[in-house]
Amino acid sequence: MVRHAANQSPHCNIYQHAAEQLRTLLNIPPNRAILFTGSATEVWERLLQNCAESESTHFVNGSFSKRFCEFATELGKKTQVFNAPFGEGFDVGQCAVAETSEVICLTHNETSSGVSMPVADIHSFKKNYPSKIVAVDMVSSAPYPDLDWNLVDTAFFSVQKGFGLPAGLGVWVANEACLRKAEALKAKGLYIGTHHSLPSLWKSSLNHETPATPNVLGIYLLGKVAEDMNRIGVAAIRRETEAKAAVLYNFLETSTLYKPTVQNPAHRSQTVVVADVADAPAKIALLKEHGLVIGSGYGTHKETQVRIANFPATTMAQIEQLLHLL
Ligand SMILES: *Cc1c(COP(=O)(O)O)cnc(C)c1O
Repeated sequence: MVRHAANQSPHCNIYQHAAEQLRTLLNIPPNRAILFTGSATEVWERLLQNCAESESTHFVNGSFSKRFCEFATELGKKTQVFNAPFGEGFDVGQCAVAETSEVICLTHNETSSGVSMPVADIHSFKKNYPSKIVAVDMVSSAPYPDLDWNLVDTAFFSVQKGFGLPAGLGVWVANEACLRKAEALKAKGLYIGTHHSLPSLWKSSLNHETPATPNVLGIYLLGKVAEDMNRIGVAAIRRETEAKAAVLYNFLETSTLYKPTVQNPAHRSQTVVVADVADAPAKIALLKEHGLVIGSGYGTHKETQVRIANFPATTMAQIEQLLHLL
């Protein structure tokens, strides 16, 4: 009862505040639900359980998109897979989605390789396949991509990347087409989740609640960070992201020691910049001595690549200091 009384105060409704700030930040229409899960990895599973009865389509060009696809296989779905080599993107016009596929799973920013799918390419799917659900993993790029929610059914992210928060919270945006699909699967007797399902998350969200006790501190902090970002303005954040990325890529292209891993400029991530370099661990150690932390290459690329996070919290001055040291 105490909880309900607190929830009625506009200053105390943590869920409502976070959702409203995210709605403003990402320009999410009122009829889309903003749902909280344990992680983005959880959303991979819930999305496939709730939105695909038997088949999903995946664009795989690195470790994260690959894992998303493996979830579908583990859940017993048939998968249609388009593969691109590490460091490359897709010519989406050449990728015909199967008639039988129900969900098109896209990864806006493949964090392992630094390849991004241009937002115009993401939007092209709804135009070509209006009856399929278009799902976007924007985990390591949000709030950077400016998605048109009329052309994307569902998208998700977690808070420890672009929002700079402690890990442990996933954010899932979904429309009514996703909800209707989940309800239809449930009505057929299919299992769509116990701890969380799209209908249970959706229903609770109407009262700014969650089916299970959530990461309340995480939701509170996300609301505050999104509020801060709104104060700056998402357009300014996106411009600043592009300006910092341009400085980084320009350095990599003109350097004799480094080169950008992603060749095609149109497919280069603005938020995770990956570079080839001879002795990556030594470079990472050198930066660490100066208090700057960058990532190693992913998996087998540990010794030969570095990954530089270009999230909103990183300033142009830090990027310049980084390049000076590199
Ligand atoms: C980090 C990441 C995930 C997983 O997010 P978690 O919060 O660890 O569950 C999914 N997709 C991409 C592209 C990522 O970078």
